[in-house]
Amino acid sequence: MLKRKDFLKTTALGLLPFGIPMVPNQTRFTGKKPVVISTWRTGLSANEAAWEVLSKGGYALDAVEAGVKVEEANKDNKTVGIGGYPDREGKVTLDACIMDERGECGSVAFMQNIKHPVSVARKVMEESPHCMLVGEGAKLFALDHGFEEEDLLTPDAEAEWKKWLDQKEYKPKINIENHDTIGMLALDEKGRISGACTTSGAAWKMHGRVGDSPIIGAGLFIDPAIGGAVATGLGEEIIKTAGSHLVVEMMRAGHSPEEACKIATERIIERSSGNSEGVQAAFIALNKEGAYGGYSIVEGFDVSVYNTDGNRAEPVQYLI
Ligand code: ASP
Repeated sequence: MLKRKDFLKTTALGLLPFGIPMVPNQTRFTGKKPVVISTWRTGLSANEAAWEVLSKGGYALDAVEAGVKVEEANKDNKTVGIGGYPDREGKVTLDACIMDERGECGSVAFMQNIKHPVSVARKVMEESPHCMLVGEGAKLFALDHGFEEEDLLTPDAEAEWKKWLDQKEYKPKINIENHDTIGMLALDEKGRISGACTTSGAAWKMHGRVGDSPIIGAGLFIDPAIGGAVATGLGEEIIKTAGSHLVVEMMRAGHSPEEACKIATERIIERSSGNSEGVQAAFIALNKEGAYGGYSIVEGFDVSVYNTDGNRAEPVQYLI
């Protein structure tokens, strides 16, 4: 382990531990703008909606909201919005958050019967004195702001839940059952960066469980001067390491978006001291210059990217 004295010595030389050079700004890692990136291959259709906004010179915050709403409305996505798998009691409970280019944020958690939690999160940011509302309070706030109540448990998801009730085993499968959460980051033509994250969380979770996705610093973090990061995967591990905040801080320290994401995945493994079997977590990051990257613990994760080179899913490097 690096001692404080050694750390000060290396940083004084302009080096981070392990000889990585410190770069006070991000100019080393340039990219293109506008650009939108999102988690998983499922992010491709969400990217289309975000690109509609960005390609016309629109606002990054509008782009990420429009983008992730595509998956919130997609009944085939079993981990986001309507159609999401319920908890053990058969309730679909949703978590989402949003952050803008000023570092302002809004979040809702454990909210039921409202299809677009990301838009409620935006209202919390823009029209409430708070950052986060949960449960019944979040729903009442949504209803007060014109959102409509609807049943989010689709017949397909209900049938899967009934099958699950036979065994009642909680064993999330890596990359499959409960990992299509959409996290999105966008940088617009004017250089404004925003992010959003939305999920129905882990399938068959305990009633009341909240994952990383609505937690600022865990599921999403934006630092206007540096860039942003979003996470997907086993929320409990991402919360314990404040994963997205860690990624942004690593970019501030001079790491590329990909290196920063790698450090956050390694931190999860380090923290769990060998008990990480079956854990998938992944991060994507975007800096203020439009450079992006991602990293996952286990193979099978993609970052979906849309810039002037087109829309594509790019597999990321992984630890295991
Ligand atoms: N991170 C989400 C959660 O733990 C799940 C996911 O990304 O699929 O709620």
